[in-house]
Amino acid sequence: MAERNTSYFRAVLGSIPPYRPGRKVVGPDGRSAKLSSNESPFGPLPSVREAVAEAAAELNRYPDPAATALTAALARRFGVPEEHVALGAGSVGILQQILEAAAEPGVEVVYAWRSFEAYPLLVGLSGATPVQVPLREEVHDLDALAAAVTDRTRLLFVCNPNNPTGTAVRETELTAFLDAVPDHVLVILDEAYREYVRDPHVPDGVRLYRDRPNVAVLRTFSKAYGLAALRVGFLVGHPHVAEAVRKTMVPFAVNHLAQAAAVASLDAEQELLERVEATVKERERVRGALVADGWTVPETEANFVWLRLGEDTLDFAAACENAGVAVRPFAGEGARVSIGSPEDNDAFLAAARAHPKRR
Ligand code: PMP
Repeated sequence: MAERNTSYFRAVLGSIPPYRPGRKVVGPDGRSAKLSSNESPFGPLPSVREAVAEAAAELNRYPDPAATALTAALARRFGVPEEHVALGAGSVGILQQILEAAAEPGVEVVYAWRSFEAYPLLVGLSGATPVQVPLREEVHDLDALAAAVTDRTRLLFVCNPNNPTGTAVRETELTAFLDAVPDHVLVILDEAYREYVRDPHVPDGVRLYRDRPNVAVLRTFSKAYGLAALRVGFLVGHPHVAEAVRKTMVPFAVNHLAQAAAVASLDAEQELLERVEATVKERERVRGALVADGWTVPETEANFVWLRLGEDTLDFAAACENAGVAVRPFAGEGARVSIGSPEDNDAFLAAARAHPKRR
């Protein structure tokens, strides 16, 4: 094909890798365990399916742009005023909205690294400068993050628990850090995996943001609530932050089916949290088995485990794929493996056991 002129695109696009969709892997016994995207292994509850089916009768209408019922349900659930809640198409959509509101060339956005892959991608697209602060022993280095703040910093992301390491920062350190960050920086506590936290010292950001106008919390229906396909995320923050996020939302970003499913999921929260408990039990079983087999696995508060495999990462991921288990490799660093059904987890453990390079 002839070369196309791409001069009409912003130069920053040249540094963004093209999107490559994940492949479905199938093992010799027909097994296909998808442990690569930190999804819930549970399908939707009957009550959530019913709500979606009912909402489908109105597909000819635009959704409620203000997501009134969902906003009210979230405000009730978290004990906050409705003006403190903003929605987006997944929490990744909200990240983009926050960047749209705050980022531009010359602005710095600080976050730990390695962390959620979307941070460098979205910050790069915004034209702002990403400032990546290395993890220390797989954990956020809060002192170094605070030290990375300059007059040009406007946003700082703290992913707690951190994707892909699963590690979480505790209340004493986190509150001291939040109090040290200057007012001209908005801190986003990305708590996509909050429901899986069992360490009582890891704080709920919704409690921490209240006395701190420059702190907001990001949550999602994609993980514990099992609605990854529908794309619903939300922010809890002070009205000036929530308003900026509402202003930068693509109109109708949270569709009608997604709103209905999210409301029904909040109604069925107890049932969903029992499923989360089952995943947490599986997480402890998987991590325990890996450690017993000689692997070094950081303690994880999320629905995945992290194996620092270094140069062996891609080889390990390929061996898992050959056994019908898709994991998420980060070349030269390590592999993140989601906690799935007990059978899928067993298939992963068998593949890991068969791999010669235990760490
Ligand atoms: N934050 C973190 C830390 C994540 O790991 C993810 C999903 N992988 C998200 C946000 C985005 O999730 P979603 O857009 O599905 O809400």
